[in-house]
Amino acid sequence: MESIEAILEKDVLEREDLIRVLEADGADCGPLFRRAAEVKAARVGNRVYLRGLIEYSNLCSKNCLYCGIRSGNAAAARYEMTPEETIEVARHALERRYGSIVIQAGERDDALFVSKIERTLRGIRALAGDGLHVTLSLGEQTPDTYRRWFEAGAHRYLLRIEASNPDLFRKLHPDDARHRHALRLAALGALRAAGYQVGTGVMIGLPFQTAADLADDLLFFRDLDVDMIGMGPYLEHPDTPLYARARALLPPRERLELTLRMVALLRVMMGDINIAATTAMQAIDPEGRERAIRAGANVVMPNLTPARYRHDYLLYENKPCLDEAPEEIVELFEARIREFGGTIAYGEWGDSRRFLERTS
Ligand code: SAH
Ligand code: SF4
Repeated sequence: MESIEAILEKDVLEREDLIRVLEADGADCGPLFRRAAEVKAARVGNRVYLRGLIEYSNLCSKNCLYCGIRSGNAAAARYEMTPEETIEVARHALERRYGSIVIQAGERDDALFVSKIERTLRGIRALAGDGLHVTLSLGEQTPDTYRRWFEAGAHRYLLRIEASNPDLFRKLHPDDARHRHALRLAALGALRAAGYQVGTGVMIGLPFQTAADLADDLLFFRDLDVDMIGMGPYLEHPDTPLYARARALLPPRERLELTLRMVALLRVMMGDINIAATTAMQAIDPEGRERAIRAGANVVMPNLTPARYRHDYLLYENKPCLDEAPEEIVELFEARIREFGGTIAYGEWGDSRRFLERTS
Protein backbone atom coordinates (compact mmCIF):
# COMPACT_ATOMS: atom_id res chain seq x y z
CA MET A 1 0.00 0.00 0.00
CA GLU A 2 1.21 3.52 -0.83
CA SER A 3 2.58 5.45 2.15
CA ILE A 4 1.00 8.72 3.28
CA GLU A 5 4.31 10.46 2.48
CA ALA A 6 4.24 9.16 -1.09
CA ILE A 7 0.63 10.29 -1.53
CA LEU A 8 1.43 13.77 -0.26
CA GLU A 9 4.23 14.08 -2.82
CA LYS A 10 1.68 14.11 -5.65
CA ASP A 11 0.78 17.39 -7.36
CA VAL A 12 -2.91 16.54 -7.47
CA LEU A 13 -4.66 14.34 -4.92
CA GLU A 14 -7.22 11.97 -6.43
CA ARG A 15 -10.26 10.36 -4.84
CA GLU A 16 -8.40 7.14 -3.97
CA ASP A 17 -5.59 9.12 -2.33
CA LEU A 18 -8.03 11.03 -0.17
CA ILE A 19 -9.86 7.88 0.89
CA ARG A 20 -6.56 6.22 1.75
CA VAL A 21 -5.55 9.14 4.01
CA LEU A 22 -8.99 9.41 5.61
CA GLU A 23 -8.94 5.69 6.43
CA ALA A 24 -5.29 5.53 7.54
CA ASP A 25 -4.23 4.60 11.02
CA GLY A 26 -3.97 7.69 13.24
CA ALA A 27 -0.33 6.88 13.96
CA ASP A 28 0.47 7.25 10.23
CA CYS A 29 -0.94 10.76 9.89
CA GLY A 30 2.02 12.76 11.24
CA PRO A 31 3.25 13.59 7.70
CA LEU A 32 -0.20 14.88 6.75
CA PHE A 33 -0.29 17.39 9.59
CA ARG A 34 3.30 18.43 8.99
CA ARG A 35 2.62 19.04 5.31
CA ALA A 36 -0.56 21.00 6.09
CA ALA A 37 1.37 23.21 8.52
CA GLU A 38 4.03 23.90 5.87
CA VAL A 39 1.49 24.75 3.20
CA LYS A 40 -0.40 27.00 5.58
CA ALA A 41 2.71 28.90 6.68
CA ALA A 42 3.78 29.39 3.06
CA ARG A 43 0.41 30.32 1.55
CA VAL A 44 -1.61 32.18 4.20
CA GLY A 45 0.80 32.52 7.13
CA ASN A 46 0.25 31.73 10.79
CA ARG A 47 -2.06 34.59 11.63
CA VAL A 48 -5.58 33.72 12.74
CA TYR A 49 -8.45 35.99 11.72
CA LEU A 50 -11.33 36.72 14.07
CA ARG A 51 -15.00 36.78 13.12
CA GLY A 52 -17.33 37.81 15.93
CA LEU A 53 -20.33 35.48 15.64
CA ILE A 54 -23.79 36.97 16.11
CA GLU A 55 -26.59 34.40 16.29
CA TYR A 56 -29.28 36.77 15.13
CA SER A 57 -32.31 34.48 15.41
CA ASN A 58 -33.25 30.83 15.88
CA LEU A 59 -36.53 31.14 14.00
CA CYS A 60 -36.31 28.82 11.02
CA SER A 61 -38.73 27.87 8.27
CA LYS A 62 -36.81 24.71 7.44
CA ASN A 63 -36.77 21.32 9.01
CA CYS A 64 -33.34 19.76 8.47
CA LEU A 65 -33.36 16.40 10.24
CA TYR A 66 -30.14 17.05 12.19
CA CYS A 67 -30.70 20.56 13.53
CA GLY A 68 -31.91 21.55 16.99
CA ILE A 69 -33.61 24.75 15.82
CA ARG A 70 -35.56 23.09 12.99
CA SER A 71 -39.12 24.40 12.70
CA GLY A 72 -40.49 21.04 13.86
CA ASN A 73 -38.80 21.28 17.26
CA ALA A 74 -41.56 22.67 19.48
CA ALA A 75 -39.24 22.51 22.51
CA ALA A 76 -37.01 25.33 21.22
CA ALA A 77 -37.76 28.78 22.71
CA ARG A 78 -37.63 31.16 19.77
CA TYR A 79 -36.04 34.63 19.62
CA GLU A 80 -35.02 37.24 17.13
CA MET A 81 -32.61 40.08 17.85
CA THR A 82 -33.42 43.56 16.58
CA PRO A 83 -31.29 45.38 14.02
CA GLU A 84 -30.34 47.84 16.78
CA GLU A 85 -29.16 45.08 19.13
CA THR A 86 -27.17 43.53 16.30
CA ILE A 87 -25.52 46.83 15.41
CA GLU A 88 -24.63 47.23 19.08
CA VAL A 89 -22.81 43.89 19.06
CA ALA A 90 -21.04 44.96 15.87
CA ARG A 91 -19.85 48.03 17.78
CA HIS A 92 -18.31 45.75 20.44
CA ALA A 93 -16.57 43.75 17.71
CA LEU A 94 -15.21 46.95 16.21
CA GLU A 95 -14.00 48.21 19.59
CA ARG A 96 -12.26 44.90 20.26
CA ARG A 97 -10.60 45.08 16.82
CA TYR A 98 -12.14 41.90 15.45
CA GLY A 99 -12.01 43.17 11.86
CA SER A 100 -14.96 41.02 10.90
CA ILE A 101 -18.32 39.62 12.05
CA VAL A 102 -20.65 36.81 11.01
CA ILE A 103 -24.43 37.16 11.20
CA GLN A 104 -26.03 33.73 11.35
CA ALA A 105 -29.65 32.64 11.79
CA GLY A 106 -32.27 30.10 10.88
CA GLU A 107 -33.47 30.42 7.30
CA ARG A 108 -36.38 32.75 6.51
CA ASP A 109 -37.31 34.48 3.30
CA ASP A 110 -40.26 36.67 4.35
CA ALA A 111 -40.08 40.30 3.28
CA LEU A 112 -39.82 41.58 6.85
CA PHE A 113 -36.80 39.40 7.60
CA VAL A 114 -35.06 40.33 4.35
CA SER A 115 -35.53 44.03 5.01
CA LYS A 116 -34.44 43.80 8.66
CA ILE A 117 -31.18 42.18 7.61
CA GLU A 118 -30.74 44.88 4.99
CA ARG A 119 -31.34 47.58 7.60
CA THR A 120 -28.88 45.89 9.96
CA LEU A 121 -26.20 45.79 7.27
CA ARG A 122 -26.68 49.46 6.42
CA GLY A 123 -26.49 50.33 10.12
CA ILE A 124 -23.24 48.41 10.51
CA ARG A 125 -21.75 50.15 7.51
CA ALA A 126 -22.79 53.55 8.86
CA LEU A 127 -21.17 52.68 12.18
CA ALA A 128 -18.00 50.93 11.07
CA GLY A 129 -17.35 52.12 7.53
CA ASP A 130 -14.41 50.06 6.33
CA GLY A 131 -13.63 48.84 9.84
CA LEU A 132 -15.59 45.59 9.65
CA HIS A 133 -16.17 43.04 6.92
CA VAL A 134 -19.45 41.19 7.27
CA THR A 135 -20.18 37.53 6.55
CA LEU A 136 -23.77 36.30 6.34
CA SER A 137 -24.96 32.77 7.06
CA LEU A 138 -28.70 32.98 6.49
CA GLY A 139 -29.42 30.03 4.22
CA GLU A 140 -30.92 29.86 0.75
CA GLN A 141 -32.34 33.10 -0.60
CA THR A 142 -33.32 34.43 -4.02
CA PRO A 143 -30.64 35.98 -6.23
CA ASP A 144 -32.38 39.31 -5.66
CA THR A 145 -32.10 39.02 -1.87
CA TYR A 146 -28.43 38.07 -2.16
CA ARG A 147 -27.87 41.17 -4.31
CA ARG A 148 -29.73 43.45 -1.91
CA TRP A 149 -27.71 42.27 1.07
CA PHE A 150 -24.46 42.57 -0.88
CA GLU A 151 -25.31 46.13 -1.85
CA ALA A 152 -26.20 46.89 1.78
CA GLY A 153 -22.68 45.96 2.85
CA ALA A 154 -22.22 42.17 3.21
CA HIS A 155 -18.93 40.84 1.81
CA ARG A 156 -19.00 37.10 2.34
CA TYR A 157 -21.59 34.32 2.62
CA LEU A 158 -21.44 30.89 4.21
CA LEU A 159 -23.80 28.26 2.85
CA ARG A 160 -22.76 24.72 3.61
CA ILE A 161 -23.73 22.11 1.08
CA GLU A 162 -23.93 19.83 4.19
CA ALA A 163 -23.25 16.75 2.03
CA SER A 164 -22.02 16.93 -1.56
CA ASN A 165 -23.49 13.50 -2.29
CA PRO A 166 -27.16 14.12 -3.28
CA ASP A 167 -28.25 10.72 -1.90
CA LEU A 168 -26.73 11.45 1.48
CA PHE A 169 -28.21 14.98 1.41
CA ARG A 170 -31.66 13.45 0.87
CA LYS A 171 -31.29 11.23 3.94
CA LEU A 172 -30.54 14.30 6.09
CA HIS A 173 -33.48 16.42 4.97
CA PRO A 174 -37.23 16.09 4.57
CA ASP A 175 -38.10 14.91 1.07
CA ASP A 176 -39.92 18.04 -0.07
CA ALA A 177 -39.48 20.90 -2.52
CA ARG A 178 -37.79 23.19 0.03
CA HIS A 179 -34.96 20.84 0.94
CA ARG A 180 -33.21 20.06 -2.32
CA HIS A 181 -29.54 19.53 -3.05
CA ALA A 182 -30.00 21.20 -6.47
CA LEU A 183 -31.42 24.35 -4.85
CA ARG A 184 -28.45 24.59 -2.53
CA LEU A 185 -26.06 24.26 -5.47
CA ALA A 186 -27.95 26.93 -7.40
CA ALA A 187 -27.79 29.22 -4.37
CA LEU A 188 -24.00 28.83 -4.22
CA GLY A 189 -23.86 29.89 -7.88
CA ALA A 190 -26.09 32.90 -7.21
CA LEU A 191 -23.84 33.98 -4.33
CA ARG A 192 -20.78 33.95 -6.52
CA ALA A 193 -22.63 35.86 -9.25
CA ALA A 194 -23.67 38.50 -6.72
CA GLY A 195 -20.01 39.15 -5.86
CA TYR A 196 -19.61 37.51 -2.46
CA GLN A 197 -16.62 35.61 -1.16
CA VAL A 198 -18.32 32.24 -1.04
CA GLY A 199 -17.93 29.67 1.68
CA THR A 200 -19.42 26.23 1.98
CA GLY A 201 -18.78 23.10 4.03
CA VAL A 202 -20.11 19.85 5.37
CA MET A 203 -20.76 18.04 8.62
CA ILE A 204 -18.42 15.16 9.40
CA GLY A 205 -19.33 11.88 11.08
CA LEU A 206 -22.94 11.92 9.90
CA PRO A 207 -25.04 8.78 9.90
CA PHE A 208 -24.79 6.97 6.53
CA GLN A 209 -21.62 8.94 5.60
CA THR A 210 -18.60 7.02 4.23
CA ALA A 211 -14.92 7.91 3.71
CA ALA A 212 -15.69 8.05 -0.03
CA ASP A 213 -18.37 10.68 0.67
CA LEU A 214 -15.85 12.78 2.57
CA ALA A 215 -13.28 12.43 -0.21
CA ASP A 216 -15.96 13.59 -2.66
CA ASP A 217 -16.72 16.54 -0.38
CA LEU A 218 -13.09 17.65 -0.66
CA LEU A 219 -13.16 17.25 -4.44
CA PHE A 220 -16.42 19.20 -4.54
CA PHE A 221 -14.78 22.13 -2.71
CA ARG A 222 -11.88 22.08 -5.14
CA ASP A 223 -14.10 21.85 -8.24
CA LEU A 224 -16.27 24.71 -7.00
CA ASP A 225 -13.10 26.73 -6.32
CA VAL A 226 -14.51 27.99 -3.02
CA ASP A 227 -13.06 30.93 -1.10
CA MET A 228 -13.72 29.66 2.41
CA ILE A 229 -14.73 26.49 4.21
CA GLY A 230 -16.42 25.78 7.52
CA MET A 231 -16.58 22.11 8.41
CA GLY A 232 -17.39 20.58 11.73
CA PRO A 233 -18.25 17.30 13.35
CA TYR A 234 -21.92 16.36 13.32
CA LEU A 235 -23.27 16.42 16.87
CA GLU A 236 -26.56 14.81 17.66
CA HIS A 237 -29.46 16.75 19.19
CA PRO A 238 -32.07 14.72 21.11
CA ASP A 239 -35.05 16.68 19.77
CA THR A 240 -34.35 15.85 16.13
CA PRO A 241 -35.34 12.91 13.90
CA LEU A 242 -31.72 12.01 13.15
CA TYR A 243 -31.17 11.30 16.84
CA ALA A 244 -32.70 7.87 16.20
CA ARG A 245 -29.40 7.06 14.45
CA ALA A 246 -27.18 8.24 17.31
CA ARG A 247 -26.08 4.74 18.31
CA ALA A 248 -24.65 4.03 14.87
CA LEU A 249 -22.29 7.04 14.98
CA LEU A 250 -18.54 7.13 15.45
CA PRO A 251 -17.62 8.20 19.00
CA PRO A 252 -17.32 12.03 19.19
CA ARG A 253 -13.52 11.87 19.59
CA GLU A 254 -13.21 9.99 16.31
CA ARG A 255 -15.51 12.47 14.58
CA LEU A 256 -13.16 15.22 15.72
CA GLU A 257 -10.07 13.32 14.52
CA LEU A 258 -11.71 12.85 11.14
CA THR A 259 -12.58 16.54 11.00
CA LEU A 260 -8.95 17.51 11.71
CA ARG A 261 -7.82 15.20 8.94
CA MET A 262 -10.32 16.82 6.55
CA VAL A 263 -8.99 20.28 7.49
CA ALA A 264 -5.39 19.20 6.91
CA LEU A 265 -6.17 17.55 3.56
CA LEU A 266 -8.07 20.60 2.40
CA ARG A 267 -5.21 22.91 3.37
CA VAL A 268 -2.85 20.76 1.32
CA MET A 269 -5.30 20.83 -1.64
CA MET A 270 -6.34 24.51 -1.43
CA GLY A 271 -3.47 26.41 0.17
CA ASP A 272 -4.82 29.94 -0.07
CA ILE A 273 -8.45 29.66 1.10
CA ASN A 274 -9.79 30.55 4.54
CA ILE A 275 -10.65 27.55 6.70
CA ALA A 276 -12.57 27.97 9.95
CA ALA A 277 -11.89 26.28 13.26
CA THR A 278 -15.56 25.73 14.07
CA THR A 279 -17.39 25.78 17.38
CA ALA A 280 -18.58 22.19 17.00
CA MET A 281 -14.94 21.02 17.25
CA GLN A 282 -14.67 22.70 20.61
CA ALA A 283 -17.86 20.98 21.79
CA ILE A 284 -15.95 17.69 21.63
CA ASP A 285 -12.57 18.87 22.93
CA PRO A 286 -12.04 22.11 24.90
CA GLU A 287 -8.96 22.62 22.72
CA GLY A 288 -10.66 21.51 19.52
CA ARG A 289 -10.34 24.89 17.84
CA GLU A 290 -6.65 25.21 18.69
CA ARG A 291 -6.10 21.75 17.25
CA ALA A 292 -7.91 22.82 14.07
CA ILE A 293 -5.58 25.83 13.77
CA ARG A 294 -2.63 23.46 14.06
CA ALA A 295 -4.17 21.22 11.41
CA GLY A 296 -4.49 24.06 8.89
CA ALA A 297 -7.41 26.33 9.82
CA ASN A 298 -6.85 30.11 9.97
CA VAL A 299 -10.17 31.60 11.08
CA VAL A 300 -11.94 31.48 14.43
CA MET A 301 -15.41 32.73 15.33
CA PRO A 302 -15.75 33.81 18.98
CA ASN A 303 -19.38 33.97 19.99
CA LEU A 304 -20.59 37.54 20.61
CA THR A 305 -24.30 36.73 20.83
CA PRO A 306 -25.81 38.45 23.89
CA ALA A 307 -25.96 35.97 26.79
CA ARG A 308 -29.76 36.18 27.03
CA TYR A 309 -30.13 34.64 23.56
CA ARG A 310 -27.14 32.36 23.41
CA HIS A 311 -28.78 29.55 25.37
CA ASP A 312 -31.53 29.24 22.78
CA TYR A 313 -29.33 28.94 19.70
CA LEU A 314 -28.75 25.24 20.10
CA LEU A 315 -28.05 23.49 16.82
CA TYR A 316 -26.62 20.52 18.74
CA GLU A 317 -26.03 19.20 22.26
CA ASN A 318 -23.22 20.40 24.57
CA LYS A 319 -22.60 23.67 22.79
CA PRO A 320 -19.52 25.16 24.46
CA CYS A 321 -18.87 28.51 26.12
CA LEU A 322 -22.45 29.37 26.88
CA ASP A 323 -21.50 31.39 29.91
CA GLU A 324 -17.99 32.62 29.28
CA ALA A 325 -17.15 36.15 28.19
CA PRO A 326 -15.69 36.29 24.67
CA GLU A 327 -12.66 38.36 25.78
CA GLU A 328 -11.55 35.61 28.18
CA ILE A 329 -11.98 32.95 25.53
CA VAL A 330 -9.97 34.90 22.99
CA GLU A 331 -7.18 35.53 25.53
CA LEU A 332 -6.93 31.86 26.41
CA PHE A 333 -7.07 30.89 22.75
CA GLU A 334 -4.35 33.41 21.92
CA ALA A 335 -2.07 32.04 24.63
CA ARG A 336 -2.56 28.50 23.37
CA ILE A 337 -1.95 29.17 19.69
CA ARG A 338 1.15 31.20 20.54
CA GLU A 339 2.72 27.96 21.78
CA PHE A 340 2.97 26.77 18.20
CA GLY A 341 3.70 30.06 16.50
CA GLY A 342 0.16 31.35 15.85
CA THR A 343 -0.90 34.94 16.41
CA ILE A 344 -4.23 36.76 16.17
CA ALA A 345 -4.58 39.30 13.36
CA TYR A 346 -6.39 42.05 15.25
CA GLY A 347 -8.11 44.75 13.26
CA GLU A 348 -7.83 42.94 9.92
CA TRP A 349 -10.63 41.80 7.62
CA GLY A 350 -8.86 38.58 6.76
CA ASP A 351 -10.47 38.27 3.34
CA SER A 352 -9.88 35.05 1.43
CA ARG A 353 -6.62 35.24 -0.50
CA ARG A 354 -8.05 32.95 -3.10
CA PHE A 355 -10.91 35.40 -3.69
CA LEU A 356 -8.59 38.40 -3.89
CA GLU A 357 -6.43 36.54 -6.38
CA ARG A 358 -9.35 35.43 -8.53
CA THR A 359 -10.95 38.88 -8.66
CA SER A 360 -7.81 41.02 -8.93
N1 SAH B 1 -29.81 28.30 8.63
C1 SAH B 1 -28.55 28.52 8.02
C2 SAH B 1 -27.45 28.88 9.01
C3 SAH B 1 -27.57 28.30 10.39
S1 SAH B 1 -27.23 26.59 10.55
C4 SAH B 1 -28.13 27.31 7.23
O1 SAH B 1 -28.65 26.23 7.47
O2 SAH B 1 -27.30 27.47 6.32
C5 SAH B 1 -25.47 26.61 10.34
C6 SAH B 1 -24.83 25.25 10.20
O3 SAH B 1 -24.95 24.52 11.39
C7 SAH B 1 -25.46 24.34 9.17
O4 SAH B 1 -24.97 24.64 7.89
C8 SAH B 1 -25.06 22.95 9.66
O5 SAH B 1 -23.94 22.45 8.94
C9 SAH B 1 -24.66 23.17 11.12
N2 SAH B 1 -25.43 22.28 11.99
C10 SAH B 1 -26.77 22.22 12.14
N3 SAH B 1 -27.11 21.20 12.96
C11 SAH B 1 -25.95 20.61 13.35
C12 SAH B 1 -25.63 19.49 14.18
N4 SAH B 1 -26.58 18.78 14.77
N5 SAH B 1 -24.32 19.18 14.34
C13 SAH B 1 -23.36 19.90 13.74
N6 SAH B 1 -23.59 20.96 12.94
C14 SAH B 1 -24.88 21.30 12.74
FE1 SF4 C 1 -32.76 25.87 9.76
FE2 SF4 C 1 -30.14 26.00 9.12
FE3 SF4 C 1 -31.04 24.40 11.11
FE4 SF4 C 1 -31.62 23.76 8.59
S1 SF4 C 1 -29.55 23.85 9.53
S2 SF4 C 1 -33.06 23.72 10.31
S3 SF4 C 1 -31.91 25.79 7.69
S4 SF4 C 1 -31.09 26.61 11.05
